[in-house]
Amino acid sequence: MKHSVYQVQQGSSLAGLLTPWNARLGSLDAATGSFTDRKESHAAAGPSGQGFCGILGSGQVLVGTPGMSAICRRLAQQPGIEGQWGAKVNRAIQQQGGLWEVIAEVGKDKQEHTALHSVLVLADQMNVRSESPGYVELQCSSTGPVTRKLDSIQRSPRFSLMLALRRDTIRAPFDGASVANSSTIEWVARDSSKPGRERDDGVECWVAVTTEGFSEHLLSEKPLTQDGRYLPQSQDDLSNAAGIIWAALQDVLRPFLGEELAPVYLQAQRWGSAFKATTLEEPCLWDPSLRLAACGDFCRQSDLEGAILSGLAAADAIMDGAQRR
Ligand SMILES: Cc1cc2nc3c(=O)[nH]c(=O)nc-3n(C[C@H](O)[C@H](O)[C@H](O)COP(=O)(O)OP(=O)(O)OC[C@H]3O[C@@H](n4cnc5c(N)ncnc54)[C@H](O)[C@@H]3O)c2cc1C
Repeated sequence: MKHSVYQVQQGSSLAGLLTPWNARLGSLDAATGSFTDRKESHAAAGPSGQGFCGILGSGQVLVGTPGMSAICRRLAQQPGIEGQWGAKVNRAIQQQGGLWEVIAEVGKDKQEHTALHSVLVLADQMNVRSESPGYVELQCSSTGPVTRKLDSIQRSPRFSLMLALRRDTIRAPFDGASVANSSTIEWVARDSSKPGRERDDGVECWVAVTTEGFSEHLLSEKPLTQDGRYLPQSQDDLSNAAGIIWAALQDVLRPFLGEELAPVYLQAQRWGSAFKATTLEEPCLWDPSLRLAACGDFCRQSDLEGAILSGLAAADAIMDGAQRR
């Protein structure tokens, strides 16, 4: 079955959660300060020709409403689904009959929670990396190609910057721009222009995403791991990164900035595996003998659409497997 995310959301439980972002979107040339609307900017769209996350392509741009987490929350309300929010899965043990015993810690007090599942789905590449905070220790006869393939994917880090400032401080002719000719900033958007995120307090929020090269540079000062050990990000590190990224963003937005720049809020976030530098050819991974699947943005397309399509492909494969059993 072939899916398109837009078709999937029509008439499904996702209806109303993904809303078209009918905004001024396009490409910003950081060298000249000129903005080209997406309708005319295909030529300036960088090596992929599609800009940041395909924003310069011809399709409709959808955003989660009021925020991206609404999508998962709505899906979790479907009949028959029991969700555990704030849970970290630490171990999964396959029992003799093939069922998976999944052991997680839940909530601030890290209460242990155990449940039996007929299929285990790895939804994050971190699950197979022992130095990652999302590592899941798998206990089964052999994890085979699923974990091997997952482990082979190269990640591509990014930093994001969220800033809030007085409306009209940034007088840009766009709401979202894939940035060309910048070694530091890849994407900048007026977050408050997204449906459901408007504000009436005179403040507007902007979000910027750094380039892979600049992200690597920032990580060279404060790495993700040391001697195979994960180094969590501290607020001090993030505040320091926020200042550096804000300075870089000001360079990119220079032609549109007013005199007074006083952000009321500035917060950076480190994403060690924001995108994938390489992806798998398969739409999902599925080993029926182990009842083990893997899906996410590491299959075929490293963005949100890719993650949704991969999740749907895994659901199809698992249902198909269940019918054959
Ligand atoms: C700053 C930034 C901006 C982006 N902008 C866009 C954009 O504009 N458009 C776009 O299409 N894409 C964008 N992306 C990429 C997009 O967010 C990802 O491609 C998408 O989220 C991938 O979805 P996923 O379900 O595969 O993985 P994830 O969203 O990473 O989900 C995996 C989940 O598994 C959880 N998890 C992992 N291990 C465990 C464990 N052991 N126990 C419990 N839970 C666990 C993680 O906490 C996470 O919530 C952006 C990414 C970043 C970082």
